[in-house]
Amino acid sequence: MDRDELLKNIAELKRKKNAVILAHSYQDEDVRLAADFVGDSLELSKKAAGTDADIIVFCGVDFMAESAKILSPDKKVLLPSREAACPMAGMADAEGLRELKKKHPGAVVITYINSPAEVKAESDCICTSSNAVKIVEHYKNKKIIFAPDKNLGAYCQALTGADMVIWNGWCYVHDEFSLGDIYIAKHEHPNCILLVHPEAPADVLEQADFIGSTTQIIKFVEENIEEMNESAGVIIGTEVEIAKMLQLRFPHKRIYPLADHAVCLQMKKTTLENLYNSLLNEEFEINVPEDVRIKAAAALNKMLELS
Ligand code: SF4
Repeated sequence: MDRDELLKNIAELKRKKNAVILAHSYQDEDVRLAADFVGDSLELSKKAAGTDADIIVFCGVDFMAESAKILSPDKKVLLPSREAACPMAGMADAEGLRELKKKHPGAVVITYINSPAEVKAESDCICTSSNAVKIVEHYKNKKIIFAPDKNLGAYCQALTGADMVIWNGWCYVHDEFSLGDIYIAKHEHPNCILLVHPEAPADVLEQADFIGSTTQIIKFVEENIEEMNESAGVIIGTEVEIAKMLQLRFPHKRIYPLADHAVCLQMKKTTLENLYNSLLNEEFEINVPEDVRIKAAAALNKMLELS
């Protein structure tokens, strides 16, 4: 099947099976075209919680589909590629977190949504890159254990002054941004401002004109790019898909990725072919044990309440 046939058949299957397709913004353009909603983890978790579809197909990575299942236990949740697993989420484990909690009794556990369900279940509140600072600010009068992203944790600590124990995890896509990348990008694209995701290291964040989640970066560009004169532009310090997507929307503007190496290979495991197969065969179903789900849902709902 070619691209148009796949898109048509996916739309038909979706209607027939009362399914909804959610796609993270790092998915490639074809997959985004097939989706009902495109967004970041927070937006998609809210969509997952609010939909009345029987099936949720999550074009993203494992922890996102798990989060959808946690919030929508009565729906069938499908992940089109079995291999779409986030390496940062894989760096956190429930046993390690329990040990840390024993060492710091009374500490509040804030866990980034990029984590396995078992780790969420050990947490008091979840956060995303959009609301992490707000959530840490809310709990800053207590000691905080933050997992698993060390860069996002350090960023929240710097902004809030909270007393934090930070897990040593990272996203290889953002952690690999360097001052060298900034030097080259600014040299190649003069007169551009730099927008960076808070999963990047502190020395990179220090050079940014704006720091925000993918949604916040997109919003910043939407609100400001038309005002910029011809010689100005933006350099986007997150997964390359965001710069590509914005360039499609604003073809007459100067929009560049900070570095071409910023590609999340796990996000790219989803294709129109496996999305079609996922709907057709109702594969690969994501389930979360009920005792884990109940505890993880409480932490996720706490985040939704504070967001
Ligand atoms: S971009 Fe980073 S955090 Fe997001 S799924 Fe890929 S590896 Fe995980």
